[in-house]
Amino acid sequence: MAACLGYCATAEIRIIRMTQQAIRFAFDNSYRRLPDRFYARIHPTPVKTPCLIKLNMALLEELCLHPAPTEAHGTASLFSGNDIPDGADPIAMAYAGHQFGNFVPQLGDGRAILLGEVIDRTGQRRDIQLKGSGQTPFSRSGDGRAALGPVLREYILGEAMHALGIPTTRALAAVTTGEPVYRETILPGAILTRVASSHIRVGTFQYFASRGDTEAVRHLADHVIARHYPQAAGADSPYLALIEAVVERQAALVAAWMHVGFIHGVMNTDNMAISGETIDYGPCAFMDTYDPATVFSSIDRGGRYAYGNQPGIAQWNLARFAETLLPLIDDASDAAIQQATDLIRGFFGRYEEHWTAGMRGKLGLATSEPEDVDLIHGLLDVMKTSGADFTLTFRRLCDTAADAHADSVVHDMLSDRQAYDAWAAQWRARLARDSQAPAERAERMRRTNPAVIPRNHRVEQALKSAVDEGNLAPFEEILRVLERPYEDRPELAGYTEPPQENERVSRTFCGT
Ligand code: AMP
Ligand code: MG
Repeated sequence: MAACLGYCATAEIRIIRMTQQAIRFAFDNSYRRLPDRFYARIHPTPVKTPCLIKLNMALLEELCLHPAPTEAHGTASLFSGNDIPDGADPIAMAYAGHQFGNFVPQLGDGRAILLGEVIDRTGQRRDIQLKGSGQTPFSRSGDGRAALGPVLREYILGEAMHALGIPTTRALAAVTTGEPVYRETILPGAILTRVASSHIRVGTFQYFASRGDTEAVRHLADHVIARHYPQAAGADSPYLALIEAVVERQAALVAAWMHVGFIHGVMNTDNMAISGETIDYGPCAFMDTYDPATVFSSIDRGGRYAYGNQPGIAQWNLARFAETLLPLIDDASDAAIQQATDLIRGFFGRYEEHWTAGMRGKLGLATSEPEDVDLIHGLLDVMKTSGADFTLTFRRLCDTAADAHADSVVHDMLSDRQAYDAWAAQWRARLARDSQAPAERAERMRRTNPAVIPRNHRVEQALKSAVDEGNLAPFEEILRVLERPYEDRPELAGYTEPPQENERVSRTFCGT
C-alpha cells in the first residue's frame, strides 16, 4: 500500500538502519510447557510489506534485547511475524470471559500470538506477543488483524500509563503490514508487539472452570502462583492466598486509574489481567471534565464501565475469579466459600485504602486524619457541580499549595467559586495541621498530579494524522510529551489544556 511506503519514507534513519538488523531473544516459554489444551500452536500469518514505524528502544533495553547486526532477520519482519525468531514457540492462548456480564465460554487470542517469554533486566518474566498477527483457531468470524489507529492508540495509552507509574502492558514495536483491513471503512493494517508480565486473564481461569476441568484450573493457579505471587505458595491455603493477592493488586490498580481519571472502557473478565497490569486498550480514555458517570466507549450503552463504576466492576470480576478456584479450596466446602467470599468483600476496604492514600497525596497531605475522606469528597463535589477539568484542577492545586495567594488559579477555573472558596478554607486549615514546608508540599503534589495525560482530542489528532495522511510526527510528539507527565516542560504547551468545545471527543471505539 502506498500508505506504508509513506511511513517508511518518513521513519527515522535510526529505525531504517534497525530494519537491517535482528534482535536475539533468549526465550524461555513457561506457558507453552503447560498442557496442550491451554493454547493452540499457530504461526503468525505473513504480511505483504511489513514496515517498522516505531520501536521502543528503552523497553528493548529493559528486556535485554539487543540488535544483532550480523543476523538475517530484519526487525520489521520480526515484529510483523513474517520471521519467527529462534527459540519462539508461537501460541494463541485459550480463554473465556464475561462480556458486559454475559458469559462467553470461548474467546481466546483471536488476533494475537504469543511468541514466547523472556527474562528482563530485573529478572522479571515478560511475554512478547504480536497483536494483529492473523487468524487463529480462536478467531471466530474475525480476520485476526488490527488497524493502524487502534495499534497506535494502544501504543500511546500503554506508554502513557507506564510513565504515570501505573502497572500496564507495554508496546515494544508497531509495524504496518502493507495490507488493508476492512472495518466500517478500509484502513491500513498494523501489528503491535505487546509486552506483559503475562497475558493470563480472569477469563483464562473461567475457560477451564466452565468446562469442569479442575485439573487445568489447578495447573493454571500453580503457574500463576509461581510466576506472579510466589509468597502464596507458602500460605496455609495457597489458593485462598492467591485470591487475596489478586484482590490486593486489582484494588491498587483500579485506585491508580481513578487517581488519574482513566476509564478502561471494557472491563470484561477477559480484559482483566491476573498480574494486576492494565491490559487491552480498546475504547479506553482519560476523563477531561470530572463526572463519575463518564463513559466514552461507543459499545457501553448502559454505562456499565463508567468511570465511577470501575471499583464495583473490578470486585464483580474478582468474584468470578474466586469462583473458578473454589473446587481447589477444601473441595468447595462451606467454610472455603465463606473465606473466599470474605476476601472478595474485602476488596472495597483495600480499594478505599489505596484510593484515600492516593487522594491524600493529591491534596498534599503527608499525615492522615479520619475527616480527610470528607475533605476529598468535598473537593470532588465542587468539581462535579462546576464541571471542572479533573487533571487541571489537581495540577493547579499544586501551585496554590505553595502560595495561599494563588488560590485564584483554581477559583477562576470553577463555576461555583463560593463552594470552592469554602472548601479551600477547610483545606488550608487541614494543611496547617500537616507539617510540610509549602514549597516541598507543592513539589510532592506535582509528583502525583500529572501536568499532562493522553487527552482524547490530542490522541485522536495523532491517530488521524497517521491514518489519513501517513504523518507520524504527531504520534511521535505525543509520545515524547507523555514520557514525563509530572514535569512542567515547554513542549507540553497545547497538551495540558482541556479540549475546546469543538475539539471534544465524546465517543471512542474499539476498532476491532
Ligand atoms: P477485545 O475486544 O479486543 O478484548 O477482544 C474480544 C475477543 O475478540 C478476543 O477473543 C479477541 O481475540 C477477539 N477479537 C477481537 N478482534 C478480532 C479480530 N479482528 N479477529 C479475530 N478475533 C478478534
Ligand atoms: Mg481483550
